[in-house]
Formats: sequence, structure tokens, C-alpha cells
Amino acid sequence: MLVDFHTHSTASDGALSPGDLLARARAAGLGMLAITDHDTVAGHLDAAGELSGCNGNPQLIPGVEYSCRWSGITIHVVGLGMDCHHTAMQEALGVLDIARRERGATIARRLEALGYPGALEGAQAEAGESQLGRPHFSAWLVAQGHVRDHNEAFDKYLGQGKRGDVKAFWPELHQVVRWITAAGGVAVLAHPLKYRCTRMKLRRLAVAFRESGGLALEIISGRQTPDQTAALQRLARELGLEVSIGSDFHRDGPYSPQLGVELPRLEGLRGVWERWQAPSNLY
Ligand code: AMP
Ligand code: FE
Ligand code: FE
Ligand code: ZN
Repeated sequence: MLVDFHTHSTASDGALSPGDLLARARAAGLGMLAITDHDTVAGHLDAAGELSGCNGNPQLIPGVEYSCRWSGITIHVVGLGMDCHHTAMQEALGVLDIARRERGATIARRLEALGYPGALEGAQAEAGESQLGRPHFSAWLVAQGHVRDHNEAFDKYLGQGKRGDVKAFWPELHQVVRWITAAGGVAVLAHPLKYRCTRMKLRRLAVAFRESGGLALEIISGRQTPDQTAALQRLARELGLEVSIGSDFHRDGPYSPQLGVELPRLEGLRGVWERWQAPSNLY
């Protein structure tokens, strides 16, 4: 079965509207889908509204991808299966919405200091109704002709460790895990190989995540090698974590992963999805 527990819509920095993402998932034959936009559940709620007339195909699992801080780096935690209207979710979404706005203003000030005035208005215009993020600053830099493409924008100004990589506003890892858990959800450590950590540091991160109440490791994120998947499976097994999988789909592109991931053979590991599968599917 194809499933996907990590995807983005226009509610954050994805290219497809929630409805189009849902239609794409249905056409591709996905059994389960979570729309996990950056720091908003607007995408999920939109799709859930559309899905109510379609026999629940695919099965839509509430989702979000929270930004947070741990040991000086930005970490992403995917929340799955929460009650989106729970007070803990309201609190989290409120805090992160303000954090994103203040961070956006700071990124803009830094870009202005680098000689690019008008960044905030420009990025906000790129974002429209979407949750403002670095990709919108990147799109503006490209549109202004300040850089050739997104890669150059991230390499020079927005990527990890660059001037526009502003982390100070994010809540701590343990806080976002607590919000997800309090709202009845499962906290998943997203794309563990994207933080450019050493193996030792990644292990420390996974331990800290588990000690905060985190439940699962994302062992497949988009395109990766079988060796990478095997290493993440070993880490999950060693730490007693469940596993999740997703494409982290944002848009179509020659190097971008497509929607949908084949359920892997788990050999002793537990998939987060097992708790949402209908009992008849379990046997
Ligand atoms: P933000 O949530 O504002 O921190 O932006 C993070 C998003 O920026 C990620 O989810 C990606 O969609 C995008 N992103 C991060 N790094 C890069 C990169 N090096 N090149 C292109 N897009 C990136
Ligand atoms: Fe993104
Ligand atoms: Fe992410
Ligand atoms: Zn993502």
C-alpha cells in the first residue's frame, strides 16, 4: 500500500492547494495521507472539509510540522493524529504563528542590512495567505534578480548557518513534543538526516526527543538510499521508537520526490500508522 505522512500544501510552502493535494493522493491510490504544513493545520482542515463528501478515500490523518530548537539547530517535529481543536494545539499554533511573524521581520532586517530593502513586503506578497517561511524570501530574492535560483538563495543567505537562518524564535523541542502529545497526537522526529548532524549528535537528538515524549522516527523521507533507511531503522530499534514515513512532497520537479511511499517491511518495528488502520485491515 502507498501512504504518505509528510506532505505540504499552499497553507505553508507547498505548490498544490489542500484540495489538489488530496485529489493527487487519491489518483495515485494512496491509502492514507497526512498534510503536514509548517506550523499550521489550515491545510489539513481544508482537505478534511473536502474529504467529507468522498467516503474518506484516502484516509486523512490530522498533521502538522512544528519548527523548534534543540542544541543550537532548528529541528522539525511532525505531529500526527492530534485533535486539531485541542487547547494544546491552539496554544502551539498561536505561539508558532507569532514566532514566524517575528522571525520573518528579523530575516527581512538582515536581508536589508545585506543590501536588499523591501524583503518583508516582498516575501509576504509571495506568501499571500500561506504561513510565511524562508522559501517565500527565497522566491522574492529570485524574482528581484538578486540570486539566480532557490539554491543560490539558500546557499548564500537562508540556509543552515547563514544570516537569514533565524532560529531564536522557535520553542524548544520538548515543548512542541508536549503540545502534540497533549492533543492526543504522535510526535515524529522529521527527516533525521537533514540536520547535518554527526551520528553521535543525531543519536543524542533522538534520545532527547524520546525523553521529551517523542514516539517515532521518520525512517523514510523522500528520496534516500537503502543504507540510509537501514541506519534509521537500526536507530529506531535501538531506542525503542516507532517509525513513520513520508515524501515531504512540496511540488513537482525533476529532483523532487513524488507523493506516496510504499509501506516498508518493518521486521520488529511498529509503524505509527498501525493505530489508524481499520481492525479488518490488520489481519
Ligand atoms: P522555514 O520553515 O521558513 O524554516 O523554511 C523551511 C523550508 O525551506 C523547508 O521545509 C524547505 O521547504 C525549504 N528549504 C530548506 N532548505 C532549503 C534549501 N537548501 N533549498 C531549497 N529549499 C529549502
Ligand atoms: Fe518546507
Ligand atoms: Fe521539514
Ligand atoms: Zn516538511
